[in-house]
This record gives sequence, structure tokens and C-alpha cells, in this order.
Amino acid sequence: MFNVEDIRKDFPILSRQVNGKPLVYFDNAATSQTPQQVIDVIVDYYSNYNANIHRGVHTLSQEATDKYEQARHAIQKHFNAKFAHEIIFTSGTTHSINLVANGFSSILKKGDEIIVSALEHHSNIVPWQMLCERTGAVLKVIPMNQDGELIMSEYDTLLSNKTKLVFVNHVSNALGTINPIEYIIEKAHQVAAAVLIDGAQSCPHIKPDVQALDVDFYVASGHKMCGPTGVGMLYGKESWLKKLPPYQGGGEMIAEVTFEKTTYAELPHKFEAGTPNICGGIAFGAAINYMNAIGFDTIASYEHELLEYATNKLLEIDGLKIYGTSQHKTSVISFNLENIHPYDVGSILDKMGIAVRTGHHCAQPIMDYFKIPGTVRASFSFYNTKAEIDSLVAAVKKAKMMLA
Ligand SMILES: *Cc1c(COP(=O)(O)O)cnc(C)c1O
Repeated sequence: MFNVEDIRKDFPILSRQVNGKPLVYFDNAATSQTPQQVIDVIVDYYSNYNANIHRGVHTLSQEATDKYEQARHAIQKHFNAKFAHEIIFTSGTTHSINLVANGFSSILKKGDEIIVSALEHHSNIVPWQMLCERTGAVLKVIPMNQDGELIMSEYDTLLSNKTKLVFVNHVSNALGTINPIEYIIEKAHQVAAAVLIDGAQSCPHIKPDVQALDVDFYVASGHKMCGPTGVGMLYGKESWLKKLPPYQGGGEMIAEVTFEKTTYAELPHKFEAGTPNICGGIAFGAAINYMNAIGFDTIASYEHELLEYATNKLLEIDGLKIYGTSQHKTSVISFNLENIHPYDVGSILDKMGIAVRTGHHCAQPIMDYFKIPGTVRASFSFYNTKAEIDSLVAAVKKAKMMLA
């Protein structure tokens, strides 16, 4: 049985005060908090077996290597990848996307087309623009509607035999929309295009099955799913990872080096040059195990309850508008108060101990679409409560009074 008060005991940060008030942490879509179970793993690593991996014959190095590879297996199992070597450790979603974009530099030709969506995070726009500059490929954009949903009939017309790649986020960080990625993948494959799904925002709420999805690449960040910053993953189908050239050169990613020629190591090492974030990788595995122990169905249904509760309560406030009104959403609410700048609302909420994000959320094109400078974004996690949402609603009312 899910008991949020028990869960909250796992997160030491949730009992701190901010500006003399109990912390209400609603910035989970930017980074999630870390449970004691994961903090313990980090402390244990540096206290007991900190060593470089893969190269050492000594005990500490072997212990660190074993734990790091166990974490890779935990991630493989979580995403249901066919092979552990299809899981590449990276520093996060941004790194994972750049790795793939770089790899496609040698595959794309002038006139080839890449499709992205109007709902993308900057980290899923800029690398593709850079790729287009390098290759002469053309970027096409799937437009969205007023609810913040991608228009699939427009997607259908963009697809052609020129389409080589499609890149879409599973869930929009700015609006919380869950995109129909099954459809997007199936349609792309009909024209033999590869698909990369940015799972940074979905993975805290949804457990994706990369084989069932038949997706070519799927990427995520550890810090948005109860793990530490500076670590993330790239899932790639074995056939694609074999085809793509390495991203960075260095130690660990080679089979043999002479000054005449270097041959590259097997997967996954081909893409893991240099000393990785060893502790981070191990802690990422621990975070995934922690979330699975609670269960993603349990997490999703509790968070949906929070979303509905908060949506109804906030809409009772006169002049409050919610952006992103799809039926298919994760627990993210982007909103504005009429004629009040989101930054001002965020500052007042902070004074009351409530952490939200304000601004364009690294998704400027979405803000341009709605013709607004930004929004206030409250994003809920499974360790949040309805009582905290009541505090938010009261604080927004107060902010409205002070700023109107
Ligand atoms: C956070 C986020 C990213 C970037 O993740 P990093 O961990 O900062 O690399 C990319 N896409 C989406 C949808 C995100 O929410």
C-alpha cells in the first residue's frame, strides 16, 4: 500500500525549512529530490570502494566495476533493452542527444529531412540545427494545437522518403503533454526513418519498454528520476550503435592505438571515453531500483490524483489560466495570473517556502506560440501531498492580491 507519509521519510530534504516555512518542493520537472537510499549508495561508494573501473586488477577497482555494470543491468532491465551493451552511460539527456546528433553527421546528406516537434526542449532543438548546418539536412517541425498537443495529421504530411530522423519528447517539460510516441514511431518506420525519443520528462512517471516501442534511441537523465546530477543514459538499438561513429575519443573507448590507426572498443565502451561518472552511474541504478520498488503504476496513479486535485483548485482562482490542457498529461501545471509576470509570482511563492519554476522552461517556441513571456510551472512528484497543493493555492491567491 502506498503511504505518502512513509515515502516522505525517505527524503531528508523535505523536512527542511525555506524562509521560515516548511519547504514545498514543486520543481520536480527541473530536478527531483534524492532519497536516503540513493544518498547512502553515494556515501558508500566514496567511503568504501572509490576506484577507477575496467582497468584495474586490484580489489577496489573490481568492486567498482562490478557495481557500475550491475547498474547498467538495472537500467537495461528497467527499459527492457535486449542487451546491456545497448545502454550507454552519459552525463545526461543533453549529452545523449548530442552523441546521436554527432553520429548522424556522417550519415545524413544534403536535402535529407529531420522532423522535430513544436513541443521540444532547447536541448532537443539546438543539436539538430547544428546537425543541419553541418550536413545540409532540413529541419521540419510538427505543429501543436491550443491544448498543447501535437497535430498528428500534420506529422503525416511531413513524412516522406526524404525523412531520415524523427526526434520527439515523450513528455513535454513545459506543458506535461504525453505525446503519442507509439504512433510517431510506427509512422516514421514506414518511411525507414530512425526515431529518438527524449524521455527526460517521461521517465520520472512512466516505465518505457524500448522493445515494445521498437524505438531506435531513447534517452533520459538520472537527476529527474531520484538520482544524482551529471549522469544519464542513451538506449540505442545495437544495429544503430554499431553503425554510428564514436562521439569522443580518449581512454576506455579504444581496442588498439598506434599513431597510424586506432580501432574502437566494442559496445558500450566505444561511446564511453574517459573516466565516467562512476559513483553517479551506480547511484542512478539505485534510484531506478528505488522507484521500481514503489512501482510505476502506483506512482502514476497517485500523481494523476495530485494533478486533478491541483488543476481543479487552481482553476477556482479568477484570472488564472493553465497552459497545456491535453487529456494526456503528467503531473505538470503551467499557469499564469492575468496581467502578472510569472517571475513575480514565483518570487512571492519562494518567500512562502514554495519552489516552482518560472520562465520559458528551455522551450521558447512554446511560449512564442501562446504569445507569453513564460509561465509559472508547478510539477508534482509521488512524494508531494494534497496539503502542499493547498499551500500552493493559498499562496497563489495571496500573490494575486499583492500584485494585482
Ligand atoms: C531536462 C530536460 C532535458 C535536458 O536534460 P539535462 O539533464 O539537462 O541534460 C531535455 N529534454 C527534456 C524534455 C527535459 O525535460
